[in-house]
Amino acid sequence: MFSLPTNLKKIALFLERLPGIGQKTANRLAFFFLRLPEEDLQEFAENIRTLKQRTKLCQQCFNLTENNLCDICLDKNRDQTTVAVVETVIDLLSFENGNIYNGVYHVLHGKIDPLNHVGPDDLKVDELIKRIKDNNYQVESKIKEIILATSPDMEGEATAIYIKDQIKKIDENLKITRLAYGLPIGANLEYADYMTLKKALEGRGKL
Ligand SMILES: [Zn+2]
Repeated sequence: MFSLPTNLKKIALFLERLPGIGQKTANRLAFFFLRLPEEDLQEFAENIRTLKQRTKLCQQCFNLTENNLCDICLDKNRDQTTVAVVETVIDLLSFENGNIYNGVYHVLHGKIDPLNHVGPDDLKVDELIKRIKDNNYQVESKIKEIILATSPDMEGEATAIYIKDQIKKIDENLKITRLAYGLPIGANLEYADYMTLKKALEGRGKL
């Protein structure tokens, strides 16, 4: 039986590990790589090789960046006084791709999920509280609103309530809102189209 040359086969087997990729697609993609110009492959290989060491978390919002602060935190045209708390960088991208939000973010990197042993300490909640505390001394960019944009499922809801309670302990008067239920219950923000997301954002209610 014919088998692919070792290197090509290794690449195909690796691609097969990617989400949503079956064996046939993996083979097709491996052949696609083989047909690419050498310099494209070199550049791709270099990007893969340095991916981990170059990609860091923003020190303020925990978005991905190659610097200490991400482009969004550094952007003077964005409203630094409104902070949307999202579960993942992919959720952040959903807002960004829709071009519907001009505030800044705080990425939790997950949600409270006891069944999968994820508690508040595994998320960037303490960092959010510290950010709000530290920010209280700022005059111009003092945070005015926290939008809890966690998913509208049980875990996302529990996470929002937990964060609200933590914020209340340090700042009774800070405005806290939650995305409205234009979003389907039980769905991930990641899969929402931007209009649904826009409506949910516009219709957010006080928590
Ligand atoms: Zn940032």
